Amino acid sequence: MNYNNNDIIIAQSTPIGSSALAMIRVSGDSLSSFMHLIFGNKKTIPRYCYAVQFKSFDSKEVIDRCVITYYQAPKSFTGETMLEISCHGNQLIVEKIINEFILKGVRVALPGEFSYRAFQNNKIDLMQAESIGAKITANSQAYGVALQNIENGSVSEKFLLLKDRFLKIVSVIEHELDFNEEEITHLSVKKIKNDFQKMKNDLFELVKHSKLIKKQNQGYRVVIVGYPNVGKSTLFNKIIGVDKSIVTPIKGTTRDALEINIKINNVPFTFYDTAGYRKTKNQIEGIGIKRGLALLSKADIVLVVDQKNPTHTMDSMLEKGLINNKQMLLCVQTKCDKLKKGTLIGLNKIKLSAQQNVGVDLLLTHLSTIITKKLEGPSYKNIVLCSERQLVLTQEAYKKIEIIINDLQSGCTMDIVASGCRDFIDVIKELLGEITSENVLNNIFKGFCVGK
Ligand code: GDP
Repeated sequence: MNYNNNDIIIAQSTPIGSSALAMIRVSGDSLSSFMHLIFGNKKTIPRYCYAVQFKSFDSKEVIDRCVITYYQAPKSFTGETMLEISCHGNQLIVEKIINEFILKGVRVALPGEFSYRAFQNNKIDLMQAESIGAKITANSQAYGVALQNIENGSVSEKFLLLKDRFLKIVSVIEHELDFNEEEITHLSVKKIKNDFQKMKNDLFELVKHSKLIKKQNQGYRVVIVGYPNVGKSTLFNKIIGVDKSIVTPIKGTTRDALEINIKINNVPFTFYDTAGYRKTKNQIEGIGIKRGLALLSKADIVLVVDQKNPTHTMDSMLEKGLINNKQMLLCVQTKCDKLKKGTLIGLNKIKLSAQQNVGVDLLLTHLSTIITKKLEGPSYKNIVLCSERQLVLTQEAYKKIEIIINDLQSGCTMDIVASGCRDFIDVIKELLGEITSENVLNNIFKGFCVGK
């Protein structure tokens, strides 16, 4: 894919299909030559909306009544002259309008080409461009807020500040080196070292928090597991609010793993109901049990369910290596209506009766609280990284600081420290897209949708 050209591009920016309205974007420096075809002699002020009868450029047949916003370069998303055409959301109308432009030599945009041009024209940096791409598919509210902070430049600002601090340190070191290495006092070395340590810790927290919030966006896998007839399917159905799983008093009813996606307090979860765990000679049930156990290895959260002693079930499953302590393990005692009334929440123990709808809400609140608590980072609440590329480069930046600190500790000469700082600055420049290969750029933008 070649993004490097400056012809006029066009694309529908809203989803294809029927809708009340659809939006078409057009961008290119020579777009002004189309103004008279669209607006006639009407005087157009940039950033104003105009209700226009959009006519075929040649036959003058009216295609639709549209609202068109005109942006004059460089004050537009791409930095080029742009038009945003809102028409009625009928695909025939959208295609007809796009076709009019194509007949006059305009080209259909490549995926992410509008954002690419915005990046090339310094309207956004690479981190901001990536956040725009990620925003469209954001699945959790916390991630959406965090992406907004990347898009409005707060995260880039943080890295720019870091880069500036390093540039200053390099210039101080180089200035002092011009005099005499011995003149760099023990005190200034100690201060530089402390500064680096703090920045290193900051980057560590940022990566940690970003991984957590990314996980929250992908969602958490919750597997309900336990022996047959303990009430797993009843609980599963109550959680999802639909009778999806078959409930009977007959052991071995659930034979396949069932899954459903739901959101609790805007956090996505996937719940799985699994076949009751037991020894069986039944081939079909045996396959179901195996499927359930396979799911367990990928679970973030395991609800170990039993009507008598879920802790005992959990210990036995841990012993057999079916679950592990890195997963969040919750013991759920079911059918509490048959026991004493009421529900109980311990650190990881819950009593409930799914059939009587007692304690299920508390279980869900408990799950969402565990997740939300994990995300309570002190200073990075809304500052995150949004792509694998950003995570890898930030981890690389972290390692570069670690090397510098080690160099300082082992008494390396300051020119080596200055060279380490320059390496660090290069990583930050790459992160912001100040130095990035054509290949990397293509890979980033081709993942966007057309029209973005
Ligand atoms: P599973 O095999 O572990 O999925 O268990 P089911 O959900 O199919 O339930 C097995 C039996 O226990 C059914 O007869 C359910 O009606 C009954 N059951 C499930 N939950 C409760 C509960 O909270 N209280 C009572 N009393 N019975 C329940």
